[in-house]
Amino acid sequence: MPKLHPVLCADIGGSFIDCAVVTSDGAVRDRRKVPTPCHDLDAFLASLVAFAAPHAGAPLHIALAGLQDPESGACTAANIPCINGVKLAPRLAALLDRPVRIGNDADCFTLAETRLGAGLGHRNVFGLILGTGVGGGVVMEGRLVVGGGGVTGEWGHGPVIPHVPGAERLVPCFPCGCGQRGCIDTIGGARGLERLYRWAGGEAARDSREILAAWQDGEPVAARTMTLYLDYLSSALALAVNLIGASVVPAGGGLSDAPALLEALDRATRAKLLRRPDGRLIVQSRLGGNAGLLGAAFL
Ligand SMILES: [Zn+2]
Repeated sequence: MPKLHPVLCADIGGSFIDCAVVTSDGAVRDRRKVPTPCHDLDAFLASLVAFAAPHAGAPLHIALAGLQDPESGACTAANIPCINGVKLAPRLAALLDRPVRIGNDADCFTLAETRLGAGLGHRNVFGLILGTGVGGGVVMEGRLVVGGGGVTGEWGHGPVIPHVPGAERLVPCFPCGCGQRGCIDTIGGARGLERLYRWAGGEAARDSREILAAWQDGEPVAARTMTLYLDYLSSALALAVNLIGASVVPAGGGLSDAPALLEALDRATRAKLLRRPDGRLIVQSRLGGNAGLLGAAFL
């Protein structure tokens, strides 16, 4: 167990601020959850001040569903508009009179799994998020890699599904929230899987869980959806794993709770790697819902 001082940690998403004290033995204490004030910066700062006030002197580390530019310190978070462009760490440090560090939540997930979870003992780890959308984080030689603009491990963005005008019924190339077309994020998370299933001719009302259940029951449209899904995702993941030399890929996020999906994705990905491990490469997160908080402690 790496040595940790007590650290105040906050896992901040578009819906909730999840806070706790992470103690030197890696335990999570005094946990509380409040709705994220997404449109009111003063209220957002006040929530963190209220959490930190009783714990004088302890540093505050934040796992953010967004990015902090390592050069400028400015944050961006699509679902928390009030902090866009704000240099949150120095602002909070001045308010709280203590050190404040901010990391991307997928990066914190990857750090936590490397130090305490499914990546323990591995030097190079690719953290895989299969949630509402997809995301990722990179640990190389045991250290978190933070890229330019705070962007690292974003295997879900960058067009990989070809856009062939007139062939929209043959190739599932959808516009992406990042402004490109054909990114893995458009089909990879829960919303993406549902989009792909509708494209393949499936019922519009079915959610990702129902689609996965239909796949396991052998329903033809769900089977066709998953054949495409696994082929596209495994290709992008194989490229990411070849690129960074990851020897383990811990997976988190809602879709990672489906063992059959992870197993199939692991098999498809390993078949496309240059160095094929004998055992599992893509494995379920060991820390689950605590990974963001625990990873923030290691920032
Ligand atoms: Zn994209």
